[in-house]
Amino acid sequence: TVQHEKHGFQTEVKQLLQLMIHSLYSNKEIFLRELVSNAADAADKLRFKALSDNKLYEGDGELNVKISVDAEAGTLTIKDNGIGMTKEDVIANLGTIAKSGTKDFFSNLSGDQAKDSQLIGQFGVGFYSAFIVADKVTVNTRAAGTQASEGVQWVSEGEGEFAVGDIEKAERGTEIILHLKEDEKEFLDTWRLRSIITKYSDHISIPVQLWKDEVAERDGPDGEKIPAEPGQWESVNKATALWTRDKSEVSDDEYKEFYKHVSHDFADPLTWSHNKVEGKTEYTSLLYIPAKAPFDMWNRDQKNGLKLYVQRVFIMDDAEQFMPTYLRFVKGLLDSNDLPLNVSREILQDNKITQSIRQGCTKRVLSMLEKMAKNDADTYKSFYAEFGNVLKEGPAEDFANKDKIAGLLRFASTHNDGNEQTVSLADYISRMKDGQEKIYYVTADSYQAARTSPHLEIFRKKGIEVLLMGERIDEWLMSHLTEFEEKSFESAASAKVDLSDLDDEETKQAKEKAEKEIEGVLERAKAALGDKVEEVKFTHRLTDSPACIVASENGMTTQMAKLMQAAGQ
Ligand code: ADP
Ligand code: MG
Repeated sequence: TVQHEKHGFQTEVKQLLQLMIHSLYSNKEIFLRELVSNAADAADKLRFKALSDNKLYEGDGELNVKISVDAEAGTLTIKDNGIGMTKEDVIANLGTIAKSGTKDFFSNLSGDQAKDSQLIGQFGVGFYSAFIVADKVTVNTRAAGTQASEGVQWVSEGEGEFAVGDIEKAERGTEIILHLKEDEKEFLDTWRLRSIITKYSDHISIPVQLWKDEVAERDGPDGEKIPAEPGQWESVNKATALWTRDKSEVSDDEYKEFYKHVSHDFADPLTWSHNKVEGKTEYTSLLYIPAKAPFDMWNRDQKNGLKLYVQRVFIMDDAEQFMPTYLRFVKGLLDSNDLPLNVSREILQDNKITQSIRQGCTKRVLSMLEKMAKNDADTYKSFYAEFGNVLKEGPAEDFANKDKIAGLLRFASTHNDGNEQTVSLADYISRMKDGQEKIYYVTADSYQAARTSPHLEIFRKKGIEVLLMGERIDEWLMSHLTEFEEKSFESAASAKVDLSDLDDEETKQAKEKAEKEIEGVLERAKAALGDKVEEVKFTHRLTDSPACIVASENGMTTQMAKLMQAAGQ
């Protein structure tokens, strides 16, 4: 018997378990996808480690996942010969949630089951999903390269605690035994299991095998004898790395399931792009745009980047060197033929191959987004609502693709009623008035403030569209975006604004007359304000308000001044 030591789950795990069991019940079969996905990750990790230490294979280099049932005991077992876990690993991985964004996830929970089950989908469930169908889970595991006596057993009923003990385990890797709940015995049926594996795990690159019981000798239809078949492991999936297959042979559902495996996301992606690049640098990329932003997209320590493979061998997760920061939401993988197998993050950092792949991947993503914007406006709208503000970092970061990125941006505008960002710069230009040279915009603390800005009065009067910007990032964006299709941008709050070219003769004369009539006012205002202002000028840009403050021609905009002030400058 195993001597167990009791541990309490981290509070968040307890909450997650509760929530998951209730909200994912209608989708309970996904537990198998999660466990197979973990087994495949464990195989990837072992292969990588074994590159520098072949002994870790312990003479068994055929990595696979084996699934079997014991009908009498009511158990379902998922066994892999991957990297395995040490006792410390077990306690950390199966007792806490190490995921980034955990705090945000829990603070977003509302207690409303429908809403929360949406959120949990975004958060991802992983190993703990075993408790949707099991009332007890036993994990037996041993880390590659350790002694048989260093095996570890983890047991839990999915409530407040788990127990850990030492066991003998001859085979390296992890075995997960689910003691199925009374009404979940359907998962003892191998046909059911086979169909779940085919549906969710076909893309897994190592064999996923089901145990097939022996069949006794029997009579055929014509009285002949059909020989007995011994019990054996049968592979259920294709077991070829999905990205190495030809695009035309991969179905949309397979791409979607593969996305869930590589991204640990639970929802379908919005779109993807799969490419084999040949020539000077050779690589395959499979890039996905998620449907939802992760909880921690604005967190600086957020993990992002692609899964990196070299010649089909997994090398690392979160290789962030292959995507610019403003595309950090992109998920997927990269398989390079040129990088060395012993490549490290340091080597990637300053590397010609990295740069060339990064340029290629950036172009792919931008054209994927262009295509989406052109062909599927609704999807693009939902993409932009999630990631538009990240994309706005682009013009400052990626000079070479500035125009492409600008073409992808969307704004609120005086042309529309809502605050949704839907107007493209091309839309704006197509509506410009005869004689209008500039693209006008106004930045403020909110869309509402932008929309009610007194700077807009003259534009309204003249029927000139102004882009409304109310996001924090907009000021930063506009300091890097100077022109689009040869039209330059001008803040509606700038002193430079001059719409007189659009005046007719009558208006010009009326303006001169008006200025004469109140000649003394300027002097009095100057005297009263002293050196608080640079200058006091007549303006014809206001229609209802008597006066407004504008930024000087060479100075920063008022919004930028506020930002600087807030930053203590
Ligand atoms: P994720 O896969 O998103 O990291 P999971 O909840 O699915 O989250 O798994 C938690 C962690 O437990 C994994 O990151 C891994 O370190 C460990 N783990 C789970 N299953 C296995 C396994 N079969 N072999 C080795 N480690 C595993
Ligand atoms: Mg997982």
